[in-house]
Amino acid sequence: MFCFQCQETAKNTGCTVRGVCGKPEETANLQDLLIFTLKGISVYGEKLKELGTADRTNDDFVAQSLFATITNANWDDSRFTAMIQEGFKRRDQAKATFLAAYKGKKGHDFDETLPEAATWVATDTSDYAEKAKSVGVLATDNEDVRSLRELLIIGLKGVAAYADHASILGFQKDDINDFIMEALASTTKDLTVDEMVALVMKAGETAVSTMALLDEANTTAYGNPEITEVNIGVGKKPGILITGHDLKDMEELLKQTEGTGVDVYTHGEMLPANYYPAFKKYDNFVGNYGGSWWHQNKEFESFNGPILLTTNCLVPLKKNNTYLDRLFTTGVVGYEGAVHIADRSADGAKDFSTLIEKAKSCPPPIEIETGTIVGGFAHNQVLALADKVVDAVKSGAIKRFVVMAGCDGRQKSRSYFTDVAENLPKDTVILTAGCAKYRYNKLALGDIGGIPRVLDAGQCNDSYSLAVIALKLKEVFGLEDINDLPISYDIAWYEQKAVAVLLALLFLGVKGIRLGPTLPAFLSPNIVKVLVEKFDIKPTGTVEEDIAAMMAGK
Ligand code: SF4
Ligand code: SF4
Repeated sequence: MFCFQCQETAKNTGCTVRGVCGKPEETANLQDLLIFTLKGISVYGEKLKELGTADRTNDDFVAQSLFATITNANWDDSRFTAMIQEGFKRRDQAKATFLAAYKGKKGHDFDETLPEAATWVATDTSDYAEKAKSVGVLATDNEDVRSLRELLIIGLKGVAAYADHASILGFQKDDINDFIMEALASTTKDLTVDEMVALVMKAGETAVSTMALLDEANTTAYGNPEITEVNIGVGKKPGILITGHDLKDMEELLKQTEGTGVDVYTHGEMLPANYYPAFKKYDNFVGNYGGSWWHQNKEFESFNGPILLTTNCLVPLKKNNTYLDRLFTTGVVGYEGAVHIADRSADGAKDFSTLIEKAKSCPPPIEIETGTIVGGFAHNQVLALADKVVDAVKSGAIKRFVVMAGCDGRQKSRSYFTDVAENLPKDTVILTAGCAKYRYNKLALGDIGGIPRVLDAGQCNDSYSLAVIALKLKEVFGLEDINDLPISYDIAWYEQKAVAVLLALLFLGVKGIRLGPTLPAFLSPNIVKVLVEKFDIKPTGTVEEDIAAMMAGK
């Protein structure tokens, strides 16, 4: 196996025996083979589009399959095997559709050579393991070509995850799905460095439009997030803990638990569900339990009730964990031994009755903290406060905004982000989104004239809100360049959605981003050089030096 898609990859070069995340070699190889089938589907998908007969039947499958390969999403090899089987079937169907359409249009058979991803055929599933060994990341010899192809695929995984959430709420855009196929197909071609860099930038542009689409989907369905004090203590009734990013699952779970005597709590990236008006009306929605994803082995244990994983991040249970019989997965998430809640039918809802029955037999959660945290500062809410914010900037009460969005993770070096938050001058405001916030959202950092010093926009996809806020400020202050705003970017990354967010920021022209705790292993030295020259990207340094540099606008 070779996997270097996340920040915790072994020695910051690549996991080769077993993932630091716990991913076994077999799973890593199956994921590589699934990506290979997606490339095959995309070769035909792109060609059909070129013929003017775009086939939309594979859009959701491709997005969901990419999503399933994200770090800490799906651990179930049987699910990957089934997806690969389905992928090959879909590829062969796409091939037949293309060949017929080609002949119909051109009057003769298609006779060009196609890449192996479009033509390789397995006799049965027993061929998968062997084939998987030769189609992974290292199949591309040239280090820089590999780096650009993988940067593109890794960013696409984030885009696909956001596109899938939007699609679940009925929002789709053909341009997004077309680009996903164009980009996957591009990795089977010999392109110039300039062509590959252009595709990476287009991935950034697509990440912006996908986050915008998801924002539209979420706010249309559930209203605009509002400033909210979220309870972090517990009630006396049994509860269900829901985590991940899927707000439709959240909605259906709240509806089905109402009046059952079972409470609902969020964990990790589901915390922002507390900010939506549509969810606040449920009396049994108690608040948030615990911290970011990597605390789950401890916090799922003390929660006592069933846990629903709607998306990543699910980490393997430790030997002493006892909650496997309380663990439920749904959507793209999978874990051997956990009950998987089936997808909803076209006009129905998912059936969470097993979880609810399970909860009734469980004791209430053990309290691990008390009090409240404040969030809900997505673009609509911040823009409603725009006059106050602009006045505070003009009067000098706010000197600088520091965007500290992104992911949390296990590494000790991530205390850097807590230390930066604690040591930033008191006239700075932190703009955050994603689970990076857990590094500082429970600190008493105070406010500036009523504006809290930590403004949490929501999930990692709500980084879109931070871009909207920046663009609005640029307009209000009459600036030509987004980089002239008093905003610094100190981004924490862990997995592939954060890479999509990073590409989105680069596409928007943001320069001088600090990225930590380490630069991605999938960037070769030459590609790092390109990013430094073009965008002035830099690794995070020491807390003191970085704060001083950010306050000096560097
Ligand atoms: S997801 Fe990260 S930790 Fe897991 S195998 Fe890949 S690089 Fe390693
Ligand atoms: S911010 Fe990133 S690491 Fe954190 S839960 Fe969301 S996707 Fe996972």
